[in-house]
Amino acid sequence: MNLATEQRIALISVHGDPAIEIGKEEAGGQNVYVRHVGEALAELGWQVDMFTRKVDVEQEDIVWHSPNCRTIRLKAGNVDFVPRDNLFEHLPEFVDNFLKFQQDNETIYSLIHTNYWLSSWVGMQLRQKQGSHIVHTYHSLGAVKYNTVKTVPLVASTRLITEKQILETAQRIVATSPQEQEHMRTLVSTKGYIDVIPCGTDIERFGCVDRKTARNELGINSETKLVLYVGRFDQRKGIETLVRAVGQSKLFGREDFKLMICGGSRPGHSDGDECERIKKIVAELGMTQMTEFPGRISQEDLPFYYGAADVCVVPSHYEPFGLVAIEAMASFTPVVASDVGGLQFTVVNEETGLLAPPQDVPAFANAIDRILLDAQWGEELGQAARKRVENKFSWDGVAMQLGELYKKLSPQSVKQPMVVNS
Ligand code: UDP
Repeated sequence: MNLATEQRIALISVHGDPAIEIGKEEAGGQNVYVRHVGEALAELGWQVDMFTRKVDVEQEDIVWHSPNCRTIRLKAGNVDFVPRDNLFEHLPEFVDNFLKFQQDNETIYSLIHTNYWLSSWVGMQLRQKQGSHIVHTYHSLGAVKYNTVKTVPLVASTRLITEKQILETAQRIVATSPQEQEHMRTLVSTKGYIDVIPCGTDIERFGCVDRKTARNELGINSETKLVLYVGRFDQRKGIETLVRAVGQSKLFGREDFKLMICGGSRPGHSDGDECERIKKIVAELGMTQMTEFPGRISQEDLPFYYGAADVCVVPSHYEPFGLVAIEAMASFTPVVASDVGGLQFTVVNEETGLLAPPQDVPAFANAIDRILLDAQWGEELGQAARKRVENKFSWDGVAMQLGELYKKLSPQSVKQPMVVNS
């Protein structure tokens, strides 16, 4: 076996396509994670194939990111967008097409890193059929999520069972924060092997634009106090809390006070509905003038937004990690975040930003004001935030840790898989 073959890995992300635009419905942190982990592993000499589900006939079947790293799109159900809660029934076809791809390309992936519970189910099938070693990252835990939503989807019990099985049987689980690990142990199972390896961010991209340049580019003057949100439109992201908190701020009513809510939404989809709901609240509170909705911002343009902001707010009801927080921190911008999950790990309260209880409007208003009303302190928090990201959350560092983990697991020879004729 040559080095390239030995260091080959399949990343599976059924619903989170690493090659598509980020920031729209269902495209968020997982897509960014898989893409960056894949690219950084390829830089380290790994041959990386990232498998996802094709959702549009216009999409290429294979997208090359670098000579050693590509996204491969497999058919599973109709080639159309399907909300993740309805994807389970299409997974057997995903498995069949994965096996077929292996056969057509005369290869077998002995090491597979799966992302989100749907992919973990695929991984468990591949483990059964061909003995692949499985590493899994949850990205979200059903046991936590279902505690924070009013209506539980039909697929909930299947998800909870699958999440327990993968924890107990995978070669390794990657928790992205100690808080996530704790939840796995208390809410899912005491069995199984967990390593904590955080998510990362591009520390060269985020932090490359100084405030003056960023503000010039966005047409924001130097006196403006700018509060920023970046992320998907989803009720659990807590945008309502942020809007109401800004409405209660001591600065409310000042002409140079601005709120920017960045993220894509599509009319007729759930994110479009949430966007409309938020816009209505903004109007009711008399905030239309001061609030901008610039839509989905590309990763290339985001450094300007983070760089221009005085504070970035992550008001999620729950967040297993929360990439936006470390992107803002890498951009020297302090963060006000909900005191939950991975945000308790990334944001150090009173040092790199402030934590507030989720959905607590007055607490968020107070935290935002403390930073906006003390520019010097805001600057210090931003400097400390950048340092923390450099030390702990670069993609290169994360990929290095994952690479070490994969090597430690050193897959044994695998079985010949059963291939379904199509
Ligand atoms: N994002 C983006 N453009 C937008 C909104 C979001 O590129 O307009 C990206 C953002 O930079 C981050 C990801 O989407 O990398 C969101 O990840 P996070 O972990 O914060 O939340 P998730 O979407 O996974 O719940």
